[in-house]
Amino acid sequence: MYKYLLFDADNTLFDFTRASKVAFAETMLHFGIEQTEETYPIYLEINKGCWQRLERGEITPREIKSLRFKLFLDAITATGNPLEINDFYLQMLAEKNYLLDGAEEMLRELKSEGYSLSIITNGLKIVQRPRIERAGLTHIFDAITVSEEIGIAKPDPRFFADTFGQLDNPQAEDVLIIGDNLLSDIQGGINIGADTVWYNPHGKNGSTNISPTYEVRDFAELRKVIYEKSAGV
Ligand SMILES: [Mg+2]
Repeated sequence: MYKYLLFDADNTLFDFTRASKVAFAETMLHFGIEQTEETYPIYLEINKGCWQRLERGEITPREIKSLRFKLFLDAITATGNPLEINDFYLQMLAEKNYLLDGAEEMLRELKSEGYSLSIITNGLKIVQRPRIERAGLTHIFDAITVSEEIGIAKPDPRFFADTFGQLDNPQAEDVLIIGDNLLSDIQGGINIGADTVWYNPHGKNGSTNISPTYEVRDFAELRKVIYEKSAGV
């Protein structure tokens, strides 16, 4: 019986794909860096590599801030201050509280049904907190854990210990972890013995060694999992 629903933020509740693309374009414009069709894909690839290194514990959340734009500038042979560019990008990103379609209705419904809702995000404080605030959702969550604030990222069990602490230490079997990332969200749930839902809207291929308890394509399927399993069906 799930009572505590722990949601990843980016691309699970928030449309990070859209927010990032817009914020990146604004940043390039601001710093006078010429953009071609290749520019954003190059950044995305580098950024993805940096986050994977973070998830493997090879770099810290702090290090990502300068590293990703340093590698990006090197890749396009441009010059600039990576930290300044990163700060501006984050500022632009923090303003964009685009929620995925139906996310807010689902959260409000689950809240009114009595579920405890939390945010678990491998993100940066100056982006995540204002975004949740701007979306008017701060008070809907009983716990919010942001990796940068505690210096530990998903899937490390210590990350989840922070969330559990804010929730007065629930039993793992009462907790359901919902996220779009197998390496951080689903592996994180496995690491702490909680059930997991892989939110996989684009039907990506899974992984042979990381198995979510459930896989859903949309919020209707997610509701079905939550309600059926909570009712003991
Ligand atoms: Mg995500």
